[in-house]
Amino acid sequence: MLLLIPGPVSTHPSVRAAAAQDFAPWDNDFRPLNEAVRLRLLSIAGVRAATHATLPLQGCGHFAIEAAVRSFVPDGSKVLIPMTGQYADRAARLAAEAGAEVVGLAVPDEAQADPAALADALAADPTISHALLVYSETSTGTVHDVPALAEAAGRAGRRVIVDAVSAFGALPLDLSALPMVDAAVFTANKCLEGLPGLAFVISPIERLVACQGGARSWSLDLASIYHHALDVGFGSFRFTPPAQILAALSVALDLLDAEGGQAPRLARYTANADTLLDGMRGLGLAPMLPRALQGPIVVNVHAPPDPAWRLQAFVDALKRRGVLISNFYNTAAPGFRVGCIGAVTPCDMARAVAAMGEALDEMGLRTRRAA
Ligand SMILES: *Cc1c(COP(=O)(O)O)cnc(C)c1O
Repeated sequence: MLLLIPGPVSTHPSVRAAAAQDFAPWDNDFRPLNEAVRLRLLSIAGVRAATHATLPLQGCGHFAIEAAVRSFVPDGSKVLIPMTGQYADRAARLAAEAGAEVVGLAVPDEAQADPAALADALAADPTISHALLVYSETSTGTVHDVPALAEAAGRAGRRVIVDAVSAFGALPLDLSALPMVDAAVFTANKCLEGLPGLAFVISPIERLVACQGGARSWSLDLASIYHHALDVGFGSFRFTPPAQILAALSVALDLLDAEGGQAPRLARYTANADTLLDGMRGLGLAPMLPRALQGPIVVNVHAPPDPAWRLQAFVDALKRRGVLISNFYNTAAPGFRVGCIGAVTPCDMARAVAAMGEALDEMGLRTRRAA
């Protein structure tokens, strides 16, 4: 089955095979693996163990975003969030639940978040301590200019949390050039092409030391994870780790290295997205975003304005042909989303386009784009 959803992604068989073994997480065979993965992730983020630490957390991306908010945003402080789509909405919800006051920065539909607008919003309210930025907004497919937005926040003397969950490993992120970033958050199962169950935060050590004890949570306290590592070693994991998922990620990172790293991976995803977009236009379908805003991670397509359209029927027809896409809408206008990430190539995307054509024909869909 070709999994074309924006995470968890299709994985290489060797990645899945690496998970097919038992581990004792505190054994000396596991610890070097964990320690090495943490260091390799730092280097993907452009930083070193002298200044930054990788904090692994069991679970999904939202857990790690919440951990970052709880650990770094002081209780009752304000967080500015460019409202880019559903993932920004979720960040706003969890920040509010974590005790922060959320200030939403409106982002027009079909636009990137504007660094100048962010700077104005920060200037208007000096009590905002942090900006929380979604790098790749997985609900729409737009990639936002996080380096420029973070620079604007940094110039205003504010700190930044980056939701890089559907970006890390494919979109460039050089934390050595972004000292205002308290936390960059990502998971194993998106552009790193690992299995789901493991999330990470990369943070500056001096900030981890400064924020000690402020998380109002023990499970989600990044400073506690850091101090545990200082006490017991970076090969250790605080609480039971998803050891098999970590072993799989280690192989996935080997594959990222073999591919040549972040830039070639981005090039492959871009070729995937281009193949998909061209193919879908050929089928008469209408992508939601103008090409200039379309990122390489996920493509959102308008639901055909035909009475015969049923999303689940389309998804089922594709699945019978070996292709799985998302089966829910998460934009205001109905559409369907196709992920371009994972261990897939433009050839796979061409196969998916062919399957879509067959599925649309089978459903008897004639009208595929609004007049
Ligand atoms: C996938 C994703 C998340 C995290 O989702 P989980 O289901 O919690 O792993 C967060 N933000 C963005 C932008 C994502 O794409």
